[in-house]
Amino acid sequence: MNDCLFCKIIAGEIPGNKVYENDRVFAFRDINPQAPTHVLIVPKKHMANILECDAETAAALTDAVGVIARQEGVAESGFRLVSNCGPHGCQSVHHLHVHLLGGEQLTERMA
Ligand code: AMP
Repeated sequence: MNDCLFCKIIAGEIPGNKVYENDRVFAFRDINPQAPTHVLIVPKKHMANILECDAETAAALTDAVGVIARQEGVAESGFRLVSNCGPHGCQSVHHLHVHLLGGEQLTERMA
């Protein structure tokens, strides 16, 4: 998609701090980390949010979560996944992404 920030990062048109890539998924460090480990896991195919996600992409994202959690050293200690959707979800970038947060004891939250 022409004007999508994350599509540009995936294409290498804007710098991204890449941590993982395969044929379907790209993952990079959040520019404004909310935890010692804060990785954004995104499908290479543009889709606005989880409502547009097909089963194959969902499986690829889930596989990548495990790989990245182990790679980042948080698989044993634990982590949180968040995917904000739409205005009430406070989604600010409209390319589906999953936040992987960990590396310290996270605070309890609503969800
Ligand atoms: P959300 O608010 O759930 O849509 O999350 C968007 C995330 O993208 C935020 O946590 C931002 O800090 C992050 N972000 C915005 N621009 C960049 C960028 N250029 N590189 C890495 N992360 C970014």
